[in-house]
Amino acid sequence: MSKASFSLEGKTAIVTGANTGLGQGMAVALAEAGADLALVGRSAPDETVGMVEAAGRKALVIEADLGSLDPVDGIVQETRDTFGGVDILVNNAGIIKRNDAIDFTTEEWDAVMNINLRTLFFLSQAVARAMRDAGKGGKIINIASMLSFQGGIRVPSYTASKSGVMGLTRILANEWAQYGINVNAIAPGYFATNNTAALQADEKRNAEILGRIPSGRWGDPSDLAGAVVFLAAPASDYVQGITLPVDGGWLAR
Ligand code: NAP
Repeated sequence: MSKASFSLEGKTAIVTGANTGLGQGMAVALAEAGADLALVGRSAPDETVGMVEAAGRKALVIEADLGSLDPVDGIVQETRDTFGGVDILVNNAGIIKRNDAIDFTTEEWDAVMNINLRTLFFLSQAVARAMRDAGKGGKIINIASMLSFQGGIRVPSYTASKSGVMGLTRILANEWAQYGINVNAIAPGYFATNNTAALQADEKRNAEILGRIPSGRWGDPSDLAGAVVFLAAPASDYVQGITLPVDGGWLAR
């Protein structure tokens, strides 16, 4: 297999929530593999822009609050206007709310479902329409979770949303393979980011989590580089509808 199978030279990728954490790690990995980046989110991704440019690629910043669908069409339009098209979408932006299921509020439910599932679907739809119209196919990569496979505790809307992400990944692969679009997901295990700050700070939970990870450490955002580049590159052209765990062995335990 040639190196070209893993090259993203000449491609354009949209990554949501790329100012920090896993989104930043994946955006930089895609840039290092050759892609130009549209970085979408509500906080300025200055550091990520610097990292993308240091990799020799272009970065477009699109400010958008993905808690609503209002910015969806504009994100696709601005990316096309700047780079001429869109080849890769990474649906990374997401939030978590912790509360006992018995006390969970409609606000906690809606906030998580809106960004983690509703916007993920309609942004994917808008990008898939652009890919279909351009006739060159494309790659959509959703960020799932261990809670796509497991129930978890005190995070009902997060578990519902991430279980939904795994299901959506399958149906969209089924429907959009005909356009040459691959839809797959990555399920990160326990990664050290803002999203897991509360867990890392809780001595008991931290020890329990580490005790179950065969690799013996929290994941670093750079640990997703191989998976995201693979799923964005020609090397994965015959891979459809999977949710790939990158978890240091958590699920194997
Ligand atoms: P993070 O550091 O909290 O980053 C989340 C990203 O989503 C940030 O860029 C954030 O922007 C953005 N975001 C949140 N709400 C938004 C909104 N309304 N509009 C636009 N952007 C918004 O968390 P992370 O760990 O990197 O998480 C990234 C993804 O991985 C999420 O989908 C998460 O569920 C998933 N994940 C994480 C882990 C883990 O162990 N860390 C494990 C499994 C799955 P702001 O900075 O502006 O809030």
